[in-house]
Amino acid sequence: MKPLVIFYSLVFYILIQFGWWAYLLIDLNSEVYLQKIEALNREKNPSGELRMEDHELIHKMHERWWMVAGEGAVFLGLLMIGIVITRKAIFKEVELARQQKNFILSVTHEFKSPLAAIKLNLQTLQKHQFEKEKQHAILRQAIHEADRINVLVENALMVARIEGHSYELAKEEICLGDFISDLLKTRVFFSTGQKVEMQAEADVYITGDPLALTSVVLNLIENAEKYSSEDSVITIKVNSHSGHAILEIIDQGAGIPDAEKERVFDKFYRVGNEDTRKSKGTGLGLFIVKHIVEMHRGSVTIRDNSPKGSIFVVSFPLAGNLEA
Ligand code: ADP
Repeated sequence: MKPLVIFYSLVFYILIQFGWWAYLLIDLNSEVYLQKIEALNREKNPSGELRMEDHELIHKMHERWWMVAGEGAVFLGLLMIGIVITRKAIFKEVELARQQKNFILSVTHEFKSPLAAIKLNLQTLQKHQFEKEKQHAILRQAIHEADRINVLVENALMVARIEGHSYELAKEEICLGDFISDLLKTRVFFSTGQKVEMQAEADVYITGDPLALTSVVLNLIENAEKYSSEDSVITIKVNSHSGHAILEIIDQGAGIPDAEKERVFDKFYRVGNEDTRKSKGTGLGLFIVKHIVEMHRGSVTIRDNSPKGSIFVVSFPLAGNLEA
């Protein structure tokens, strides 16, 4: 808050100083004109009555007042605009610093908790002889946790690349439905109770970068999983519509209030208060999703699912339709 105190003190000082100079200028102006009138009168008009020249001088003096007031108003207006812009910039910086602090706290937690879980799972396997099925469940849980760390590291790298403008998109033709089905097979995302349903139209091709698109799909599915209850269904739809491939990730989770639907794409932004939030995260996922989708000349929006949950709608130009 120190920069804000300095900023407000400076604004206060500038305003006081400005008022003082304006007063001095007008006062000096009046003094000069009144002395001029007095001098004229002493020379030419000992009777003391005001003459034509005096009226002109008084008129000129008033004109000068108005000039000072007008220029003062313009200066004050510009000063106010400057103050508002600077204040906004300071608030943005303060907010970013706060979010970065939260980010470091969440990243540390994000690393610690899956690592602890993996260690616990391995120790459990080491100590006990379980049946195949139980062993499989424990391993599945450990792989899921390892995937979480992987997504976290990949997200951090992706943000660095996006911000460094150093990401050269590969241009490969990708069948969106097959691409997502393959991803679902290779990764263990889902805690046991959650189900994923895939409804993909065949042969919906887009041109894109497999690595970047993996990041988009993983982040959206991970969120759908993270912000929904244990027994919910996550539906993934792929369709084509007027020259675009439409990917929908539909969950039955907490949903996102209308007022937050734009902001969730901001870097580090997380809905609600850091202390009250149950699910952990870094606020980087959707920032990456939006950037990568836009780098593919696509768009991403959020709709409400009925009766509850969110639908993330991602639209890409179909392959061969990049100008669409
Ligand atoms: P993270 O999940 O790491 O917090 P994201 O950028 O992926 O960061 O998401 C930003 C915020 O948007 C989340 O903190 C969460 O509040 C909200 N959000 C994202 N996806 C969903 C979803 N499927 N359902 C409800 N809220 C969501």
